[in-house]
Amino acid sequence: MNPRRDSKWWGWGDPGVEPELDEAALATLRERVGSLEPAPLAAGLEEFSLPPAQPLPPALLEAVGSGAVFDSAEDRLRHATGCGYADLARLRGGRLDAAPDAVLLPAGADAVRRVLDVCAAEGVAVIPFGGGTSVVGGVEPLRGEHSRLISLDLARLRAVEVDRRALTARLGAGLRGPEAEAALGVEGVVLGHFPQSFEYATIGGFAATRSAGQASSGYGRFDELVSAIRLQAPAGELCTLQTPHTAAGPSLRELVVGSEGVLGVIPEVTVRVRPAPAVHRYEAWVAESFEAGAEIVRALAQGPGLPDVIRLSDEEETEVSLALSGPRGAAKALFERYLRLRGKRGGCLVVVGVEGDEESVARRRALTVRALRRGGAAYIGQSAGRSWEHGRFQGPYLRDTLMGMGAMVETLETSHTWSRLGELYAAVGGAIRDAMAAQGTPGLAFCHLSHAYADGASLYFTFICRARHGEEVEQWRAVKRAASEAIVAAAGTITHHHAVGRDHAPYMEAEVGEMGVETLRAIKDQLDPTAIMNPGKLLSES
Ligand SMILES: Cc1cc2nc3c(=O)[nH]c(=O)nc-3n(C[C@H](O)[C@H](O)[C@H](O)COP(=O)(O)OP(=O)(O)OC[C@H]3O[C@@H](n4cnc5c(N)ncnc54)[C@H](O)[C@@H]3O)c2cc1C
Repeated sequence: MNPRRDSKWWGWGDPGVEPELDEAALATLRERVGSLEPAPLAAGLEEFSLPPAQPLPPALLEAVGSGAVFDSAEDRLRHATGCGYADLARLRGGRLDAAPDAVLLPAGADAVRRVLDVCAAEGVAVIPFGGGTSVVGGVEPLRGEHSRLISLDLARLRAVEVDRRALTARLGAGLRGPEAEAALGVEGVVLGHFPQSFEYATIGGFAATRSAGQASSGYGRFDELVSAIRLQAPAGELCTLQTPHTAAGPSLRELVVGSEGVLGVIPEVTVRVRPAPAVHRYEAWVAESFEAGAEIVRALAQGPGLPDVIRLSDEEETEVSLALSGPRGAAKALFERYLRLRGKRGGCLVVVGVEGDEESVARRRALTVRALRRGGAAYIGQSAGRSWEHGRFQGPYLRDTLMGMGAMVETLETSHTWSRLGELYAAVGGAIRDAMAAQGTPGLAFCHLSHAYADGASLYFTFICRARHGEEVEQWRAVKRAASEAIVAAAGTITHHHAVGRDHAPYMEAEVGEMGVETLRAIKDQLDPTAIMNPGKLLSES
């Protein structure tokens, strides 16, 4: 099996999916970000030059077994980045100055153990690689103090074992989202974890990054779905019991979830599953303003409970996403009709999804509808909701289209309490807009609220502006820094679900304090005494 050859090497996903923008969408874009200069790929795959690979210890090749080592330029390149804007800009620009020396594909947990033992003894750095969809530099090929580096691709860890009575499933780390759901579907159950990267991200990656899917309000974030976990660390194996709850001290399960490959490899995860829902009801509403919409979400979260999906776009996101959805976008026509009938100039789209059996969907929907109506929202129909449900994994393909047109497109997320959410929203949006303008490329910044709790919610920002050719990464870094500093100044979290990786590591002290960072370092020293695991991620290199 040749790893990771089924997606674009320079962008997102299926090479056959290439959305185009219609004239109206192009006009909106020109009006909002100025004219763009097309940015074709600078080099083909064969012209890409990578730094030469260091030879690996022969014991390592024996440990993983024959046919499990891939060291072609293409395989090294495909494991040299994640899928954030800066990663794709470097790939499109034909520039990469680091790559792993080889990609190893262990056949199972025993092979992972052998590989880690050899790497620890020989001083070879290891990057656990799931789907490579990190947007925070989580698989960046940093070597730490070591001269040799492997990418440990976990695609062959594919266990599936369902306990129908307990409603749990043991899943191999290498299963991608659709593969895991398909295997669970055979048993009539679902995991319900649908991040936008669902098509390519893996079970191990979800656990390692504390991922949150689009239906997190109903099904739970991935960390809430984990019932038991295993970690193969260089120093040994850590396993947690599979029981519904324990009061036996601080949670080691929680320590492994979110460990981002810096403590060891997660070969499998036991997750909570649910009976497959018979009914999916998705619909769209319009709130009068972002503040009014947020109040509705708060009322639901603090009162009768949230639907499985609730996603509130601000006015800017509503306008731009509808403009980019093209003339056939169901939501667009319905939204325009709403504006006409109400004599309004703008509003905020709310997508609501409820899943389950007939009776529970009817009951939960009724409670949601009551809160929406009380908060002044207007119903625009099921077709707009269904079109969001069916198109929800298309966004990253559109990013490729926009990058090819010469745009910078990036997203970031944070969260705060309801008391400070408005302040965070204004500060981060303002910082992004100011930083884009300071780069000489004023642009758009918009936001949605999609993961909500009784005490607060997450904010997810998207920004688009003209890319400065040849300087894309520096330009991106300036805007990212401004946004991160605004988040820290408002005491929001540096990441609600994208994780820390390399990009957020400098902000960990603001997140958990000096003692928190020292505690994490002490744990890493215990589990990974020769510091081979994923250098420079989660904790900055000291
Ligand atoms: C277009 C797009 C949309 C996205 N949408 C969402 C979203 O809606 N919600 C969300 O939460 N995230 C989202 N992400 C971010 C990303 O998909 C998640 O962080 C995901 O969980 C990463 O999974 P992966 O398998 O690709 O991991 P990778 O990118 O391969 O790895 C991520 C990190 O986890 C470590 N790791 C991976 N597997 C293991 C393992 N088995 N053991 C130990 N460490 C491991 C890696 O070393 C790395 O540090 C999105 C990304 C993209 C590109």
